[in-house]
Amino acid sequence: MTESVVRALYGKAKSLNLSSKKINVVPECVSRLPNLSVLLLKNNSISALPNELLYLHHLVELNLGNNALKELPAVLGHLESLKKLYLFSNQITAVPPDVIDGLQNLVVLNLNHNHIRRLPPEIKSLTRLRHLSVLDNKLEEVPAELGHLTSLTEINFTSNHLPSLPVQLYQCKELTKLHVARNKLTSLPEGIKALTKLQVLDVAGNKLSMFPVEFDSLPLKELYHEDNRFVRCEPMSSVQDVEVLMLKELAARFVLQQDRDMSSLVHRMLPYYPPLPELLANGSCCALCLNPFLTTWLECVHFVSVNKETKIRSSKTIPVRAFLCSYKCFNTEGHSYYGVARK
Ligand SMILES: [Zn+2]
Repeated sequence: MTESVVRALYGKAKSLNLSSKKINVVPECVSRLPNLSVLLLKNNSISALPNELLYLHHLVELNLGNNALKELPAVLGHLESLKKLYLFSNQITAVPPDVIDGLQNLVVLNLNHNHIRRLPPEIKSLTRLRHLSVLDNKLEEVPAELGHLTSLTEINFTSNHLPSLPVQLYQCKELTKLHVARNKLTSLPEGIKALTKLQVLDVAGNKLSMFPVEFDSLPLKELYHEDNRFVRCEPMSSVQDVEVLMLKELAARFVLQQDRDMSSLVHRMLPYYPPLPELLANGSCCALCLNPFLTTWLECVHFVSVNKETKIRSSKTIPVRAFLCSYKCFNTEGHSYYGVARK
């Protein structure tokens, strides 16, 4: 091991590979290699890093995979030039906000196979991050601030304990691969069609009952969805009486309808009542008659055949959520939307 460092010192090395050298402690002389841009320390027994590493002002890639770290060493927060950081297969339980704050140039962050329960909201400062991988940890939630990471192209949260994903995830519009298999997801947030570049989605091994509205508009090339709790198509007949809408809903539907007409008085006046457009932004439209509604709807499902070009391991027909505006629409004949009966 010493031999490698000595050779590196003489050669003004830009990269140093001390992987699989049975190291417990990183030799201090490593910090005297100011030109170092790649430092590989994987497959050792390192449990701490010397503070002197902060002198590595040009370090771009640091691999500490398969070591004995119990936390993210504080010195990492000073390595501002780091672009790739690998910390897989350690015993890390927490990601301290101040370390994350100092890693603003990070492009790849790999925290696979650790014991992390949560990511701090400060993760929002990693605005250049493209690959985030926290596979096989103990994540119980994902912070809404993930939505600030608009450069992300790949996220891997496979094998965690996530009961849900934040809707802000859909602000990561560059996302091409989303792996959330083997969690506890009961649904995906509405609005997924915002991920217009998503090519790979792995939701296998969750508790999903259906996919969100307009899921079938995604340009997916691969979809993995086996081992969920999808609703099956077992039609039962049911007759529903027409419901009576509350005044607020009736008014909202009228305003939403009028607002579609650019020349209407309502459309022109709305900007003068700031809380209203914000409130009405939550409105949606009926899958059948296309009329708008605000908060009262019927949750339905339709069964969609996945695009032939999409690679898929199980059923090609998937249940996708749809909203209808009223029982009047639901009771009309000739459509393929089913009400959902939960046993
Ligand atoms: Zn309708």
